[in-house]
Amino acid sequence: MSEVLHYINGQRVAGTGTRTSDVFNPALGEVVAKVRLADEADVNTAVAAAKAAFPAWSATSPLRRSRVMFKFKDLLEQNMQKLAELISSEHGKVVSDAMGEVTRGLEVVEFACGIPQLLKGEYTEQVGGGIDAYTTRQSLGVVAGITPFNFPAMVPMWMFPVAIATGNTFILKPSERDPSAALLIADLLKEAGLPDGVFNVLHGDKLAVDGLLTHPDVQAISFVGSTPIAKYIYETGAHHGKRVQALGGAKNHMIVMPDADLDQAVDALTGAAYGSAGERCMAISVALAVGDVADQLVEKMAERARTLKINVGTDPHAEMGPLVTKQHQEKVAGYVAKGVEEGATLVVDGRGLKVPGYENGFFLGGTLFDNVTPEMTIYKEEIFGPVLCIVRVPDFEAALKLINDHEFGNGTSIFTRDGDAARNFAHRVQVGMVGINVPIPVPMAFHSFGGWKASLFGDHHMHGPEGVRFYTKMKAVTTRWPTGIRAGAEFVMPTMK
Ligand code: NAD
Repeated sequence: MSEVLHYINGQRVAGTGTRTSDVFNPALGEVVAKVRLADEADVNTAVAAAKAAFPAWSATSPLRRSRVMFKFKDLLEQNMQKLAELISSEHGKVVSDAMGEVTRGLEVVEFACGIPQLLKGEYTEQVGGGIDAYTTRQSLGVVAGITPFNFPAMVPMWMFPVAIATGNTFILKPSERDPSAALLIADLLKEAGLPDGVFNVLHGDKLAVDGLLTHPDVQAISFVGSTPIAKYIYETGAHHGKRVQALGGAKNHMIVMPDADLDQAVDALTGAAYGSAGERCMAISVALAVGDVADQLVEKMAERARTLKINVGTDPHAEMGPLVTKQHQEKVAGYVAKGVEEGATLVVDGRGLKVPGYENGFFLGGTLFDNVTPEMTIYKEEIFGPVLCIVRVPDFEAALKLINDHEFGNGTSIFTRDGDAARNFAHRVQVGMVGINVPIPVPMAFHSFGGWKASLFGDHHMHGPEGVRFYTKMKAVTTRWPTGIRAGAEFVMPTMK
């Protein structure tokens, strides 16, 4: 059985922490590796390495930092299949979906390749007689990223390419459930010429996270995960004087209007609800069927849920793999039982699914509920599994109100042919990422990703221009030279003449 080690200062190290956590192959239902969990001394070692690497890296010209990113992009492309298979083996998602995840991460690397352009400041000549002013953005120092299990490559790549390209040094604390992708990424960064200590991987659980959150030498924390932890990270990090961006959970609704092309909507909903077994923060977990579209929508979705191709992630025909752990499978099954108990109509029940050859795998089939109401637990809480809830609503206003009243505000979508309804929706909906006939409206790398309400704590979204702002601090410089200096002391508030 392999052991997953930390990666600090360019080396794989066991560290001093003696605790480990099991890493499963979710399709087999077997432990395949043990991952080291950092103790306080390991946190200190990682932070010290990142701190030592900072002066030289931040002084490296943006052009040279960008060249490392170009080389890394090239290596990532060459190793994409290998990385996707590694993700699939620990997460369970199908390999083609893992390839998509890596591609979306790669796009942030491409964005970070343009860092010399992105770091250009502003300059105003002659703000006063003989006085010029400019602003510049400087790196912060050691920054850390704490990431969830569901995108073990993409979510770290929302963070570190921008953090590193802007001259910071980075410590990644990946999910302990699928920790290996981070190490392959570390190897590729080293091969790309990144100096030791600029990118480090610290495995661990709450102990490691708390160590990073309270460490005086860590300047900023980026977090993606569930809402209770995101809130904790935001509060604790801010209390310790750090910049924090903490992205939380979701309950994404899709409105299906009576004028929508129903087949298009059903295709979109099937992929968005059941892709990656629903373990996506942008998955659609609630469909709001407006007016008389409901009966047909339920009928068509039931057919899709029943005929999903579910298998081990390496099967090229599989559309969906297992859930990440047995514990998570049981949690999702518990929500299905709760939905029945609270009176929703269980149209398709995915519990008890056995996949031939993978009988011990953590599989759960596509599940569909009809007649879900806002008071039900399955409506209010994030399930994070292949469970779609259909809520019947009389009209657009009722649908919009449900979305705006919900605790979460990550993503949402509307399927309609009516431009007015779509425009009205985009303008009034209280959600951070909105799709018009696009079921999973994940912004491209050169825009920024983030939700509203309980889906994000902090001020900055991730990657794109917001990422550059998060990982840099602005400095405003006002200059004059001897010929521009007026004689005599001034005791009033200086104003430009
Ligand atoms: P999680 O909150 O359990 O874990 C996320 C990270 O926090 C992991 O690295 C974990 O080790 C650490 N952690 C867990 N418990 C902790 C504690 N008590 N104290 C300190 N650190 C702790 O989330 P997960 O189950 O790995 O991922 C799924 C969640 O992530 C879902 O809620 C999903 O919606 C969310 N997510 C959100 C986005 C987004 O962009 N908003 C993207 C992906 C995933």
